[in-house]
Amino acid sequence: MVVPYKHEPFTDFTIEENRKEMEAALKLVGGELGKEYPLIIGGERVMTEDKFVSENPGNRKQVVGYVSKATQDHAEKAHKIADETFETWRKWKPEHRANVLYRASAMIRRRKHEFSAYLVYEAGKPWKEADADTAEAIDFLEYYARQINRLKNGMPINSREIEDNQFNYIPLGVGVTISPWNFAFAIMAGTVAGPMVAGNTILLKPATTTPVVAYKFMEVLEEAGMPAGVVNYIPGSGAEIGDYLVDHPRTRFINFTGSRDVGVRIYERAAKVQKGQKWLKRVIAEMGGKDTIVVDKEADLELAAESIVSSAFGFSGQKCSACSRAVIHEDVYDQVLDRAVELTKELTVGATFNDNSNFMGPVNDQAAFDKVMKYVEIGKEEGRLMAGGEGDDSEGYFVKPTIFADIDPEARLMQEEIFGPVVAFTKAKDFDHALEIANNTDYGLTGAVISNNRARLEQAREDFHVGNLYFNRGCTGAIVGYQPFGGFNMSGTDSKAGGPDYLLHFLQPKTVTDQF
Ligand code: NAD
Repeated sequence: MVVPYKHEPFTDFTIEENRKEMEAALKLVGGELGKEYPLIIGGERVMTEDKFVSENPGNRKQVVGYVSKATQDHAEKAHKIADETFETWRKWKPEHRANVLYRASAMIRRRKHEFSAYLVYEAGKPWKEADADTAEAIDFLEYYARQINRLKNGMPINSREIEDNQFNYIPLGVGVTISPWNFAFAIMAGTVAGPMVAGNTILLKPATTTPVVAYKFMEVLEEAGMPAGVVNYIPGSGAEIGDYLVDHPRTRFINFTGSRDVGVRIYERAAKVQKGQKWLKRVIAEMGGKDTIVVDKEADLELAAESIVSSAFGFSGQKCSACSRAVIHEDVYDQVLDRAVELTKELTVGATFNDNSNFMGPVNDQAAFDKVMKYVEIGKEEGRLMAGGEGDDSEGYFVKPTIFADIDPEARLMQEEIFGPVVAFTKAKDFDHALEIANNTDYGLTGAVISNNRARLEQAREDFHVGNLYFNRGCTGAIVGYQPFGGFNMSGTDSKAGGPDYLLHFLQPKTVTDQF
């Protein structure tokens, strides 16, 4: 009997023993850097000439790994194998598939800091953020394994005396998982494990800047007893194999997490029925955010400033849930802004692979650095620079946590996803006005309200249109099985990762009537 689900606890690195263990893991992984990694197709290792160079964003000279790059031929081969493997994998008992995930999660838990160390090197995460990413990966495996056990007997329906009616869920077929770099472990593992435990076979195309941690996850799945061909590892560029996999007539679904532009492209392409295609593809597309914290005039203002700062700058603002807009009641605007600026100026930025003292590490790569710095320039025209505004990409891609004040609700800084450590403050006349501003983007992922007024919180519950809404706390840090995650509008299809109905996206119900 499996114990009830509980989320994986976070590691307290102020405890010396934990710190030492993490240092040892960083040393261990440090010794593994620079290796070459093959594709994994049907369990076979395929090394290619052409490779991605996965770099440490905190130290550009350090290569984390050289990762084989799949071509369309590889993608085709992997697709065939996934298609064949589906015929056996779909017949595995759901509880046996779940056992693969339970074992994988136990193995990761035993090597937790090692995985976090990969995230520190490959994604530039501070230890705390890396630890949370690994914990979330464990949670996805544990949670979805339990969820399939809940769904394995279908749902009760009615039968008349002369018949037995059954309503059961069956898997779909071959799915493509396309994952982002920002939760390089958790989202990648979760968007593989969910459809996989539901009986589908998967082609995994991880983000091009974080493919090594995905390879390490593949090794764990194999060791945990996953049959060859159930998940196939084919890193490749969006242009070379992304479109190919999405367009493929044998692709049954696409499980995408990433930017709005790529998500929309996938959604549109998948809608086209290709020659030989026998179904309408399903697309799960979880995309960007432009997330707001609203501060009421009756509120704990210290909590407000702390929530804005931690939600805006944790992992350098590179979370889809990150606070990039602070909408403050005019009566308390100056106070919250001043305090947030004070707190922000205390934050330190620097490499995280050799030091746990920095609050923020680097941004992801040169493209991310250039984009954030471009928005800093835009911000200088649109508002008042209050903190940060500087970047340094000489060794790694470091940007100081940046606050702009007095930004118009319609300005670019308030509308466009920057995906870096930049937050825009704007003033609201009253609470209704604040909610109006909060809702005035194309997105609808997360939001928070800081208020001591119950009526206004209840008003926000109804009218603040986001998939994940938080009261009196920050707007990041959703936990699997506790805060199912996904957004409205251009934030995506709201599949609610880590939620009780997530697996239904990868299943289809079948009704069988047996008449006596
Ligand atoms: P991205 O869209 O650039 O890349 C995501 C994935 O798509 C990568 O694996 C990439 O290689 C692939 N890709 C690129 N072009 C493709 C194509 N033509 N066909 C198929 N695949 C293609 O996003 P990113 O920079 O990796 O991640 C950051 C974005 O992800 C942000 O916008 C963030 O808000 C979003 N995000 C959303 C959620 C959520 O749950 N809503 C979670 C994390 C990140």
